[in-house]
Amino acid sequence: MKKIILSAAAVSFVALLAGYYNGSPGDPQHLISEVQAGQPGPTVSSEPYEWSPTSPYPVQSVYYPGTEELSPDEMRVIACGTGMPQPRLKQAAACFLVELGNGDKFIFDMGEGSFERIMALGIPLDQLNKVFLGHLHLDHAGDFPAFYFTGPVNNRLTPLRVWGPSGVKPEWGTKAWMKNLRKAWAWEEASRGSAVDPRGLKLEVNEFDWTAVNKVIYDENGVVVRSIPAIHADQSASFILEWNGLKFAFSSDTIPNKWWREHAVDLDLSIHECFIPPEFMMSKYGFTPSEAFFVGTQGHTAAQAFGKIMSITKPRHAVCYHFQNDHDTAPAVWEAIRETYDGPLDLAIDFMTWNVTKEGIRTRMAVPNEESFPAPIQRVKQPPNSLEAYQWTETSLSGVEPESAAVTNDLYKRFNKANGTDLQPPITSLPFRQE
Ligand SMILES: [Zn+2]
Ligand SMILES: [Zn+2]
Repeated sequence: MKKIILSAAAVSFVALLAGYYNGSPGDPQHLISEVQAGQPGPTVSSEPYEWSPTSPYPVQSVYYPGTEELSPDEMRVIACGTGMPQPRLKQAAACFLVELGNGDKFIFDMGEGSFERIMALGIPLDQLNKVFLGHLHLDHAGDFPAFYFTGPVNNRLTPLRVWGPSGVKPEWGTKAWMKNLRKAWAWEEASRGSAVDPRGLKLEVNEFDWTAVNKVIYDENGVVVRSIPAIHADQSASFILEWNGLKFAFSSDTIPNKWWREHAVDLDLSIHECFIPPEFMMSKYGFTPSEAFFVGTQGHTAAQAFGKIMSITKPRHAVCYHFQNDHDTAPAVWEAIRETYDGPLDLAIDFMTWNVTKEGIRTRMAVPNEESFPAPIQRVKQPPNSLEAYQWTETSLSGVEPESAAVTNDLYKRFNKANGTDLQPPITSLPFRQE
């Protein structure tokens, strides 16, 4: 493996391009692993370069989802939600996608708005069947119901597996939450379930003891995930993922704590929550000083405290999230963190992407597809279980407007004629059969 730093002037641009084109899937292609944390990444050389008018320009400063193969020793993390509970177009609430070179993918938290970010990446939902929830606040779990229930309609044909904390009371824990979720969405499940592949509605709930310290909650295919308690009211947890010599941790919500200090060490990528300074909580949200200081420093991590725990744990690369990352807040957060930490740092924003290898960590922005459709199916569809077919009531069936129904039925006839099929319209069929 070449030990070069891309931004070093000694490296010719042409050589870089050659490296790119010669890269096999097993190589640290895309030059990612050769970029060092804190370095600016590939730059355009002052050397002349014969740029083909038809070939793609090979060194991208952004990540186009679906265009780069992960090398076997590489981890890619994409921020699918970095913001606050208050919905905003620019930032969904907490969600991070971890993709590994062995093909495994993991979702950590699914706050409101994050599902559409995930869909914009164009990843088949069959490959996204493992969700870890650090706690059950809306801004960390609010999009899970949408992800779960609309998955089968969007080509997820695999059962969904979820890990989440136990409750201080059993009825507050993940098991109860999932059970109640299915109760609350019983009609959604019944009405959709009669029409879609039933496998996608299968749910495997793994509730772990939120007080357990560094206990393994997942160990498959060379990937180990441990949980540690988080301090955020109660029944909150942070996660530490290890694979192939790489170590990633995600705090969900917490203030810095002794478990993080002891176990979230030797990290390659450390993603920890961090709030805007309390003064912004007052000016932006109308919080009183006592509310702003409580929420911003006791319920969540103050920027200076984030910096301190990063200085103590010394990750290769630190990422803070959970604040509105704007032109005015970002410099304030940055300066506050720099009071206590001077290591590699990113202030997360939605679609920020990190490629992590032993050689280097590269931060880029992903360019999402704003006009995405569900990715192609990965498995052969199974017909729904007709025994559980949803029965429409007479109220609905008797209300079908006959002339519109005839027009609809004609669509069936035209399609059947053109394709040699015999599709029948079950709801508008009465007028169809009368003709
Ligand atoms: Zn929370
Ligand atoms: Zn939160």
